[in-house]
Amino acid sequence: MPAISTELPTVRVSEWLAEFLVSAFPDGAALHEPTFSGNEWNYVKDCLDTGWVSSVGGYVDRFEEMLCDVTGREAAVATVNGTAAMHLLLVALGVRHGDEIIMPALTFVATANAAVHAGAHPHFVDVETTTLGLDPGALERRLHDIGEQRDGVLMNRETGARIRAVVGVDVFGHPCDAPALAKVADDFGITYLQDSAESLGSLRGSKPAAAGGLAAILSFNGNKTVTTGGGGAVVTDDEALAARLRHLGTTAKEPHRWAYRHDATGYNYRLPNINAALGCAQLEQLDCFVARKRRLAEWYRSAFAGPKHIQFVDEPPACESNFWLNAVLIPDAAERDAVLERANTARTQLRPAWEPMHRLPMFNNCARGELAVTEDICNRLVNLPSGIAAANLVLETQ
Ligand SMILES: *Cc1c(COP(=O)(O)O)cnc(C)c1O
Repeated sequence: MPAISTELPTVRVSEWLAEFLVSAFPDGAALHEPTFSGNEWNYVKDCLDTGWVSSVGGYVDRFEEMLCDVTGREAAVATVNGTAAMHLLLVALGVRHGDEIIMPALTFVATANAAVHAGAHPHFVDVETTTLGLDPGALERRLHDIGEQRDGVLMNRETGARIRAVVGVDVFGHPCDAPALAKVADDFGITYLQDSAESLGSLRGSKPAAAGGLAAILSFNGNKTVTTGGGGAVVTDDEALAARLRHLGTTAKEPHRWAYRHDATGYNYRLPNINAALGCAQLEQLDCFVARKRRLAEWYRSAFAGPKHIQFVDEPPACESNFWLNAVLIPDAAERDAVLERANTARTQLRPAWEPMHRLPMFNNCARGELAVTEDICNRLVNLPSGIAAANLVLETQ
């Protein structure tokens, strides 16, 4: 009897995956694309008809109210994009030059960029496989190993810097373990914040993902679940913080009927009314979008349920994910580029995970703990077409 090659199944896995996707999307498919099937045209036309296109207007207020509803927060401050939202939040919290902000290396570059814009240094801690978000155990160990309380302030004894905050990220829409992360941050006396740019419509238990932490940021970029063209927001239950964000984000102008007086170096970060109009129409469809995306995830889940050694990245326990981007882990990192090559040549957009932050030239000197799980996920993960168009395609041909 011939020996069974141990290499064969691995080769077959990537071939199988590429073939599977090409047959699921014979005309190709985008990773994610915007869908405008509601009141978008009416609301944007209304802005043009009335002349209310810029940074003041009824749609901004309405959009912020709707954001409070879907995130379960008391206040929302809409901004020009998600990066600006995080930058503004860190500045409003008094992040100082040289502070460290703990975050995962498995994130979009915006999280780390915003920290640097605020004068701080990112400090990377490992993630867990169940959520793809920061690992509360790894966070605890890291803070225990390098942290030192000095006059009630947590310092990194290796770098001498103040550790100011932890930012959890809801990767690909899966809620990170906010309750456990917030507890660790609290134990060490630092602020827990959340980058929920990808998780609008996701739940942890019965709570929206963006309800975690002192404040969370959202993004409405063109590739997110709902879009305003470009846009973002900070949501929080802290009304005083929201007022500070609003003031700083509107050039720190003192309210007055005609005088131009500013009391700080502010930012021009507020979302224009015309973008908010688009956002209101999009948010009206959030439940439909999420339901459709969850059905696509269900379809992927059953397709990868067989003994094919491909691991579908499912929602974390007790969570309902919006499955912003579906993902699989392939068994052998060396096979990844072959899968990407084959599918992309057939016009099906597959993408690797982001290059982890600590491997980027501007962040490779940043403080970091052990990142073994991050490395493994980044080497083996592939994102699959996840938009409404992809969902419609596979669900209609079923
Ligand atoms: C999209 C995104 C942001 C914000 O991006 P903008 O393009 O500035 O709106 C921040 N963090 C993560 C994880 C994101 O995916």
